[in-house]
Amino acid sequence: MEDCLFCKIIKGEVPSNKVYEDDLVYVFKDIAPAAPVHYLAVPKKHISSALEIDSHNSSYIAHIYEVIAKIAKDEGFGKDGFRVVNNCGELAGQTVFHIHFHILAGRELEWPAG
Ligand code: AMP
Ligand code: ZN
Repeated sequence: MEDCLFCKIIKGEVPSNKVYEDDLVYVFKDIAPAAPVHYLAVPKKHISSALEIDSHNSSYIAHIYEVIAKIAKDEGFGKDGFRVVNNCGELAGQTVFHIHFHILAGRELEWPAG
């Protein structure tokens, strides 16, 4: 999508700190980290939010969770615990309308969120 920040990051038109990439997913460091580890995992296909997940694109989402598990194991934070967050829509605080999964780790995380 032309005017989408994360589509531009995926295409390399906007710089990012890449953590992982394959055919379906791109993972990069959040520009304003809320924890010692704060990555964003995005599908390479533009899906605007969790509200738009359907049978045609849900394989991207399943794959993102496989990649998150791999990164958590490879980087070692998986054993301590971590959080995956998806904000959907205005009231939840979604600011970029290309679906993304925050991966937060490296400190004790409070609950409930928000
Ligand atoms: P959300 O509020 O759930 O939509 O999350 C959007 C996230 O994108 C925020 O945590 C921002 O810090 C992050 N963000 C915005 N612009 C960039 C950028 N250019 N590179 C990396 N992360 C970004
Ligand atoms: Zn996009």
